Amino acid sequence: MNSIAVVNYAEEKGSVEIREIAKPIIGPDDVLLEVANVGVCGSDLHQWTSDHSWPVNYPVVLGHEFGGNIAEIGSNVQGWKEGDRVVSETAAVIDQNNPMSKQGLYNLDPTRKGFGYGVNGAMTRFVKVPARCLHNVPDKLPFEQACLTEPCSVAYNSVVVNSNIKPGDRVLVIGPGTIGILCAAMARLCGAEVAIVGLEQDRGRLEIASQYGCEGIVGDASEWAKKQDGLGVDCVIDAAGVSATLKMALQLVRPNGQITKVGWGPKPLNFSLDPLVQKNVRLQGSFSHNWPIWEKVLSLLTSGRLNVNPIIGGVWNLTDWHEAFEQMHTGKVVKSVLKPN
Ligand SMILES: [Zn+2]
Repeated sequence: MNSIAVVNYAEEKGSVEIREIAKPIIGPDDVLLEVANVGVCGSDLHQWTSDHSWPVNYPVVLGHEFGGNIAEIGSNVQGWKEGDRVVSETAAVIDQNNPMSKQGLYNLDPTRKGFGYGVNGAMTRFVKVPARCLHNVPDKLPFEQACLTEPCSVAYNSVVVNSNIKPGDRVLVIGPGTIGILCAAMARLCGAEVAIVGLEQDRGRLEIASQYGCEGIVGDASEWAKKQDGLGVDCVIDAAGVSATLKMALQLVRPNGQITKVGWGPKPLNFSLDPLVQKNVRLQGSFSHNWPIWEKVLSLLTSGRLNVNPIIGGVWNLTDWHEAFEQMHTGKVVKSVLKPN
């Protein structure tokens, strides 16, 4: 049985189309997941416009933010059954013997391959998923929201795990994309006062960010950053899709403060890092997420303490992938969600 899929078939810009693919054959440690919803990620857009920083295994089905029901179970799989409601982590292929994997930090295994670039992703009806990637989704949490566990986990890792934010801290988030807005929401959950800064064209997205109790700033954030005592913010979360915003972060962070960089882009920098030294700033990268983070995020989503509805700009059929991508690419919506059926 064939299904349609959104396939990224070559390196050249715009190389994405609908293709028919065969139903995946699962191995003994896998399940076959029937996709209910799949979120469109900034990285799917980057592969579409070919300004990504990672190797892609063409042709590949896009999509790594997904949930659905288990349709088939591999012979070795225990603890799951057909029909279970699940979301899947993104590390589709890992080396279990890598020292990072052995610490539970398989997200940092350099040989890791993810859905949507390394192996076929979820913008289709069926996807093959190793059972170790699965998390249970309670009945009360709809898949439209549950499929966004992945970007929420990116935000949780950068704000809660990789930063040290205390109630009363002032936190500035750079970049009001999905990750930026979710980072702002997480920093609010940590008890911080939060502002998020974007460009003129980001006004709509900053408006959505304000629903999470943070202040939206267009352009220059230095007034907000210096408001408390003139020294800058305790923490900058840089969620912009470029490296250059690090310069702004270094200007606006207070001495002995911290910068966590979660947004990335391949262009090199051309400025001095002297302020990093002079201000005694801690610069921290943040990449992906692991099992305990997913469990925490799922409980936040299920209890309603974290609500992703404000960022969902619409749900499109797979055949309308282009419209869903375009709406996000132009910033009209923060997050597009697809459904295969
Ligand atoms: Zn993503």
